[in-house]
Amino acid sequence: MECYIPKKLNIYAIYNKSNQVIEKYIGIFSDLTKRKKEQEYVNKLQDYNITTNLPNENLFLRLLDNNIRENKKNLKIVYFSIQNYNSIVLNIKEEDPSIIHKLINRISAMLTGDDFIAQITKNNFVIGLSSIIDQTEMDEFIETFFEKSSEAIHFNQKEIYLDIKAGISKYPLHGTTSHELIRNAYFALENAIEEKEKKYLYYDFSLRKKMEEEIELRAFLRKAILNNELEVVYQPQVNIVTERITGAEALLRWENQHLGKISPAVFIPLAEKTGQIIEIGYWVIERVFQDYQSIKHKFRDDFRISINISPLQFKDSELLKTMQQLADKYDVDFKNIEIEITESVLMTNINSINDSLKNFKALGMTIAIDDFGTGFFSLSYLKNLRVDKLKIDRSFIKEYPENDNGEIAQVITNIASKLKLDIITEGAETKEQIEYLKSIRCNYVQGYYYSPPLKREDFYQYLMDKSDKN
Ligand code: C2E
Ligand code: MG
Ligand code: MG
Repeated sequence: MECYIPKKLNIYAIYNKSNQVIEKYIGIFSDLTKRKKEQEYVNKLQDYNITTNLPNENLFLRLLDNNIRENKKNLKIVYFSIQNYNSIVLNIKEEDPSIIHKLINRISAMLTGDDFIAQITKNNFVIGLSSIIDQTEMDEFIETFFEKSSEAIHFNQKEIYLDIKAGISKYPLHGTTSHELIRNAYFALENAIEEKEKKYLYYDFSLRKKMEEEIELRAFLRKAILNNELEVVYQPQVNIVTERITGAEALLRWENQHLGKISPAVFIPLAEKTGQIIEIGYWVIERVFQDYQSIKHKFRDDFRISINISPLQFKDSELLKTMQQLADKYDVDFKNIEIEITESVLMTNINSINDSLKNFKALGMTIAIDDFGTGFFSLSYLKNLRVDKLKIDRSFIKEYPENDNGEIAQVITNIASKLKLDIITEGAETKEQIEYLKSIRCNYVQGYYYSPPLKREDFYQYLMDKSDKN
């Protein structure tokens, strides 16, 4: 059997005593097997991911460049990401490449011709597709891709389910260089990750525009507190049987010199995304407590100002302590303060949620669930939860009576009554809606029918006018 090994030969000339005539040559061989292996390893590292043996970004870009050079008009990039990778690793307590292999084998079986797949980071991958000609085929490919990748992966007697999102770019429409194509596919992926109900998105220019606007908005929002651009307005809450004002919701407003008025429905989610909601949230609490000082003499004992608390704020371990400090500073009695949380806050372990809620209640605050009925909240869970009030979302009254006969509002009111919880409907605008709510005994309303959210001074005046009548 023949066997080849890489060798290096150094040849040295040996001269005679006078150093003029070469007497002989000596050759020394060295075995290069080890060095060659090391070199091969280094070369491989440049192009492959060592643990999974998949091509890396370097090689992917070269392959993509080849495809572009050949002007493959059908070329598409599918950039996909395993969203729950970290929790899987935590769950199985080790990082095992076999899970990735199983996924890649399924996907590779769908590839033909010059298609290729590469691994960019531990949980990010790209497919270069040139075998697919038209959009119908592409739609089928994507459908099968998600079907295959969502099948259970069996590992150590466990079933693992991968949560995958993808972004797609097309050559030459979305880029004419490999870098552009990959960046735009990634960009589409980022947007797909943000949009909860989407599994994948194609790149398009409006996504880029949206991102640019968001970057601008973020930059302005950073300076909003400093530049005095924020304001809190108050929307009265009314007992519709007695017409008494029983409270108000504090709602944030932002007006910027260049952008004008920006809706909280736009900037609050952004502040939640950037984490800025913590700082903004404290600003709102302090502003409300400050205002409380000037109007508390207008309150009856059961008057409550409610403050919206985002999920991120709720998780902030400093929240209660800071609220306490601010309450001391502005002489606020917590029995006049309510916090509004959304169903999403409650979607975790009931014991730990109840522990947190207990701390708020221990100070005297009440707790309302905002936008009730819009999430996927289990009713059996509600029974054991330490909340005081349900706020029926506006969507359950706004179409009454034209397109909605109000049954959901009635069902929620009945649930609240059975569980001995307070109830209020948000967004009633017409006399008819108020009469209907009265008929189903949902006796509290916060809506334009009584008043839109009012600036501080107008709210003081409103309270004064009403207190004369009440
Ligand atoms: P939300 O807490 O559910 O507030 C109720 C929203 O419904 C407010 O919108 C209010 O102006 C509006 N609304 C009330 N009655 C009517 C009505 O009869 N007709 C109509 N068309 N709308 C009515 P707004 O002020 O635009 O706030 C939107 C959302 O932004 C709030 O929904 C809340 O989730 C969030 N938000 C506002 N201020 C804050 C804040 O200080 N902190 C946090 N975390 N979120 C806030
Ligand atoms: Mg609210
Ligand atoms: Mg609401």
